[in-house]
Amino acid sequence: MAKYIIIGGVAGGATAAARLRRNDEKAEIILIEKNSYISYANCGLPYYIGGVIQGRDNLFVTSPDDFKIKFKIDVRVSQEALSIDKEKKSVTIKNLKTGETYNENYDKLILSPGASPVRPPIPGIDSDRILSLRNVDDTDKIYNFIKKNSVKKATVIGAGFIGLEMAENLAELGINVSIVEMAPQVMNVIDFDMAAIVHEHLKIKNVELYLKKGVTSFKDSTNGLDISLSTGETIKADMVILSIGVKPDTILAKNCGLALGVSGGISVNEYMATDNPDIYAVGDAVEITNPVINKKMMIPLAGPANKQARIAADNIVFGNKSVYKGAIGTAVAKVFDLTIATAGASEKLLDREKIEYESTLVHSNSHAGYYPGATRMALKVHFDKSNGKIFGAQCVGYEGVEKRIDVISAYIQNGGTVFDLEEFEHSYAPPYSSAKDPVNMAGFTAANIINGTVKVIHSKNLANLKDYLMIDVRTSLEAANGMIKGAVNIPFEEIRERLGEIPMDKKIVIYCAVGARGYFVSRILLQNGYKDVYNLAGGYTTYRTFVADQSNENIFDHGSNIPNKMTYSAVTDDSKVISVNACGLSCPGPIVKLREEIELLENGDCLKIEATDPGFYRDVESWCNVTGHCLVKRESDKGKIVALIQKKGEENVNNNNIADSKLGNSKTIVVFSDDFDRALASFVIANGALAMGKKVTMFFTFWGLNVIKKPKKPSVKKGFMGKMFGIMLPSSSKKLKLSKLNMMGMGPVMMRGIMKSQKIESLEGMIDTAVKNGVNIVACQMSMDVMGVKKGELIDAAVIGGVAAYLEKTDEAGMNLFI
Ligand code: FAD
Repeated sequence: MAKYIIIGGVAGGATAAARLRRNDEKAEIILIEKNSYISYANCGLPYYIGGVIQGRDNLFVTSPDDFKIKFKIDVRVSQEALSIDKEKKSVTIKNLKTGETYNENYDKLILSPGASPVRPPIPGIDSDRILSLRNVDDTDKIYNFIKKNSVKKATVIGAGFIGLEMAENLAELGINVSIVEMAPQVMNVIDFDMAAIVHEHLKIKNVELYLKKGVTSFKDSTNGLDISLSTGETIKADMVILSIGVKPDTILAKNCGLALGVSGGISVNEYMATDNPDIYAVGDAVEITNPVINKKMMIPLAGPANKQARIAADNIVFGNKSVYKGAIGTAVAKVFDLTIATAGASEKLLDREKIEYESTLVHSNSHAGYYPGATRMALKVHFDKSNGKIFGAQCVGYEGVEKRIDVISAYIQNGGTVFDLEEFEHSYAPPYSSAKDPVNMAGFTAANIINGTVKVIHSKNLANLKDYLMIDVRTSLEAANGMIKGAVNIPFEEIRERLGEIPMDKKIVIYCAVGARGYFVSRILLQNGYKDVYNLAGGYTTYRTFVADQSNENIFDHGSNIPNKMTYSAVTDDSKVISVNACGLSCPGPIVKLREEIELLENGDCLKIEATDPGFYRDVESWCNVTGHCLVKRESDKGKIVALIQKKGEENVNNNNIADSKLGNSKTIVVFSDDFDRALASFVIANGALAMGKKVTMFFTFWGLNVIKKPKKPSVKKGFMGKMFGIMLPSSSKKLKLSKLNMMGMGPVMMRGIMKSQKIESLEGMIDTAVKNGVNIVACQMSMDVMGVKKGELIDAAVIGGVAAYLEKTDEAGMNLFI
C-alpha cells in the first residue's frame, strides 16, 4: 500500500488529495495543513468581507471531517510541516495545538504550500492597523477590525487583482477607500490604455487613487494611521490592506535542497515533479512555463493550481504520463461594475522579452445595439505581424468580457492566429452578441493591419510622432465636445469633397470616436493616392482616457472623512422630468439625442437620459458646459450612464457646474484684428498668462486669421472669392500693417528694427513661444469659410473650431479680451 503526504490543504493540496484517492483507493493519504481550515474559497474572501457572500460557512467547500469521511483522507489541520528529509523520505510535522513534533514517512510527497503576501520592512509596518488577506484567519481579522473600529477610511496599498477587489468590497461597506500604487497604473498585467479605463471607473466610484507613489512609512496616531508617501504627502486611514504581491512559499523546498527556478519558485518538470522524483509540487509555490514567451514564470492563479494538482496526482499513481503544458495567465477580475480580463502576454511582457508585436484595439457592443442593455467593451489583441499568431488579449467592459477572453485564451493555448478570430463561429442572437462578435471584429481589424489594408498608430506613440497632420473625422458636434490638440475637424461625410485641404506629402493621422470611421477614411485616402495614413487605434475614446489625469488624489479630506464628491445643482420637486433612452447608441448618438430632446422642453424642465456609451459620462458634462444647460445629476451603474439635465434659458448660459476654484485659471483672447501692433499685444498678454501657469485660448476670427497664416503655404484649392481675398489680404504675420503710423509699410519695419535692437522677441518668435508653452489656438471655422482661408494656410498649431468650443473656454476663464 502506497503512502502519500500532501503539504498544504487548499486549492492545489485538497485537489491533489481527492484525485489521489480517486486514483488509488488503497493508498494511505495524509493531508497536512497548518491553518484550521482546508479547501476553502480563497477567491471569495474579499466578497465575504464586503457582504456579498453572506454567511461565513459559504466560504468552505468542504470540512476536514467531511473530507475524511468522503475520501478516507487523514486530514491534519493546525499541523505544520517543519522540514523534509529527502533521503529518508520523511517529513517532520509539528502539531500546533499540542506543540508535539513527529516524523511521518512517505512514498510520494506533494508540496502545495502556496504563496504569502509580501511585507517589506517599511518603518511602522507592524502596526495592528495594517492587514493582509491570504486565508480565512486574515479574513476574520479584517472583518472583525472593521466592525470593532467602525472603520470609515481605508487605504489599500497595491492595486493588483486582490487589492482592487478589496477596494471595491470596502467601498461597498460605505468606507472611503484610497488606493496607493507605485506603478503608473493599476493591474500591471494589462496595458496602460486598458488600465486607464479602470482608473476612470474607480474615479466615478469615488475611490481615491494615488499612482506612481510608494509608501515610505506608517505611523500610528491617536485616531488612525498616518501613511507617508514617497512624494512627502501624508494620508490618513483607519486601516490599511497591504496587497503588494505574493512570494512563493519555498522555505521547505529550499531547506531540503530542492531546486528553485529563475523566478524563485520551486522548479518542476512537465510532470509537476521536482528534481527529486518522489516529490511533486504544484500551485502558487512553483514556477511554470508560459508558452507564449516560452519561459518559466510565476502564475499564481487558482485554475493552474487545480489543474497541476490533478496532473501530479495522476503521475504519482500511474507513472509520469500526464503533461502540464504551462499557463498563459488567463485571469479575470470584477472592479465595481467593470470586468477586466486578460490572457497571454501584455505589452510590458512582450517589450521585456523583446518580442516584436502589433496590436489592435476595438470598442464593440456586448450584444446587438438595438437590443436593450448593450454596453461597450474595449478589446485589445497583440499578435505577430508576420504570421498573425496571437500573443495576448485584454478586455475591459461591463458584460460578456470574460467570454471573449476565454475564447481568445483557447486560441492562444492552441497556437491560434488572428485569422482564426476572423472565422471564429459563435452562438448569436441579439441579447447575447452581434452577427460579428467583438472577437471577430478584433480578428478583422488585426488581419487588415497584417495585409496592409490599414496602418494603425497607438495613443502611446503619438507623442513621438513628428511632422504630421491629424484629422478628426467625427461630426462637428462630437468635435466641439473635445478634440486632440492640433487636429483639424473634417467630418467623415465631407472627406471626399475636402481632399484638397489634405496635403499629399505629409503623414496623416486619422481618428474618430472608436476607430471605425477612421478606418473608412484611411481607405478613402489610400485609394486617392495618399501613402502615409494611420488610423488611431481605439480612436478618441481610447486617447481621451489615455491622456486624462489618471489619479484623483485628495478627493477625501484627510481630516474629516468626508468625500469631496461632485455636488450637483438641486431641482425643485415640481420640475417636469422627461425620460429619454439613448442606450445602445454610439457617440455622438446620445449627444445628438440629448440636443434634439432638450429643444422640445420648456426652460426649467428636466431631461433624464440613459446611455451606454462610456464616453457619455464626460460628454454630457462638456455638453452642458458648452450649452449652458444644467447637469443636475450624473450616475454610472453597470455600464449605464444616467444623467439628469435641466434646461436653462439664455440668461443662465454657462453659469453651472464650473467650480469656483477653476475661475481665473485660464484666459481667453479673441483676435479679430490683423494690425501688427494689436497682434503683438495679444501675444504679449498670452505669453505672460502662459508664463503665470494659466491656460490660454486665442480665438482668431476674420482679419485675425491673417496673424496665424504660414509664411510658406502649401498650394490649396480655392474658389474665386477665396483667391481674391488671398491676393488682397496680408499673406502672413510678416506682412501685417500698423494700426497707426503705417507709413506705406515703413512703420512695421521700423518697429521690428527697434524690437530687435531692444532684444524684444519678434511677433513670429512670440507665436512660437506661445505654441511651445501650450497656447490653444482656435481658428474660427465660419470666418475661414467666409474668407476662403484653408486649414493648410494656417500654422500647424491652429485648431479649427466653432464658437461653441471657444465659449466653453470663456466660461472657465477669469479674463476674456477682444483685440
Ligand atoms: P493555497 O491555496 O494558498 O494553499 C496553500 C496552503 O498551504 C495554505 O493553506 C497554507 O496554510 C498551507 N501551508 C503552507 N506551508 C505549510 C506548511 N509548512 N505546513 C502545512 N501547511 C502549509 N486566483 C484566481 O485564479 N482567481 C481569483 O479570483 C483569485 N482570488 C484570490 C483572492 C484572494 C484573497 C487570494 C488570497 C487569492 C486569490 N487567488 C485567485 C489566488 C488563488 O487562491 C491561488 O492561486 C491558489 O489558492 C493557489 O493554490 P495553492 O494550493 O498553491 O496555495
